[in-house]
Amino acid sequence: MSKVYFKSVASYADTGAVSRSASELLKLLIEKENIALENEIPLKVHFGEKGNDAFITADKYDGIVDFLKERGIKSCFIETNAIYSGSRMTADKHIRLAHEHGFTKLPVLIADGTLGEDYREIEIDAKHFKKCKIASRMVEARQMIVLSHFKGHMLAGFGGAIKQLGMGCAARGGKLEQHIAARPFIIPFFVCKKCGSCLRHCPAGAIKIGFYSRIDGKKCIGCAACIAVCKHNAIFINPFKIQFASKFREKIAEYALAAQKGKKNIYITYAFNIAKGCDCEGHSMKMVAGDVGIFASCDPVAIDLACMDAVDKKEGRKVFGGRDILAYGQKIGLGRNGYELIEA
Ligand code: SF4
Ligand code: SF4
Repeated sequence: MSKVYFKSVASYADTGAVSRSASELLKLLIEKENIALENEIPLKVHFGEKGNDAFITADKYDGIVDFLKERGIKSCFIETNAIYSGSRMTADKHIRLAHEHGFTKLPVLIADGTLGEDYREIEIDAKHFKKCKIASRMVEARQMIVLSHFKGHMLAGFGGAIKQLGMGCAARGGKLEQHIAARPFIIPFFVCKKCGSCLRHCPAGAIKIGFYSRIDGKKCIGCAACIAVCKHNAIFINPFKIQFASKFREKIAEYALAAQKGKKNIYITYAFNIAKGCDCEGHSMKMVAGDVGIFASCDPVAIDLACMDAVDKKEGRKVFGGRDILAYGQKIGLGRNGYELIEA
């Protein structure tokens, strides 16, 4: 059974306690699990969409950053581009937002390139995907510390390590194929201004701009670069093609399997600011559970299960659904749907 290490921290507002506890847990995990550290270890984070007030702020990672610096380990904050319009749509915008949100103690690296075009196809043999589009710079990393914020998501039900891996390490095209079974489409009249920007950036020659601007579904490879470059918000994902939630969760687990492939990752999850929605939402968030503390493990499935159990126990009720992703994660070999909790 996988071990999950836990430290209770009463309040997210106590930045010193949160930061210190995270680095202590990291040290404990490394010692107890005999983890060999690489010379370079990126920190997978989420910078929080502009306007979101629940994401884990940069100062809460200071203890971990210092821990790596003291050991001479090279690091960076690593992330991928978002799929929809906002402040994390392209690498330059995304880096600017990261700096505005205080992620300045390490270099910021957007792992799937300027528009999400830089990815490698990682082979897995699973139900929905045989190949997953994982951001190149993440594929190259031999080890990552995956820092997750435990909270909700409108489809995934909750978001911890599995979501941070599966959605968070996918290049934009990988995010698109997890969300939908179809290609994006253009609203041809009035909204499309015929500027041709999408056409110039499409790597597949799938876009026709004219009286009836459209995307050729047979040529489109689903990279989603066109959505990123359209300044007029004329390119959309068909909401009726969004997968049913359970299938969506299975796809996230499969992408997580690809993102983890060949790596000895470390997972640290912050169970604070537990909102119903996710850090990608650019508005003020409503909390649905109280602060719990920090978890650490080598197993992304076990750590998510431990977080869910701890939140439910504290609240005395089931806070989030979506536990089917844990059973599916175990089925495909992502991790163990069970754990031994060790309190630090
Ligand atoms: S970038 Fe947007 S507005 Fe410009 S041609 Fe493409 S769809 Fe139309
Ligand atoms: S139309 Fe082109 S740019 Fe848009 S998703 Fe398809 S391949 Fe990518």
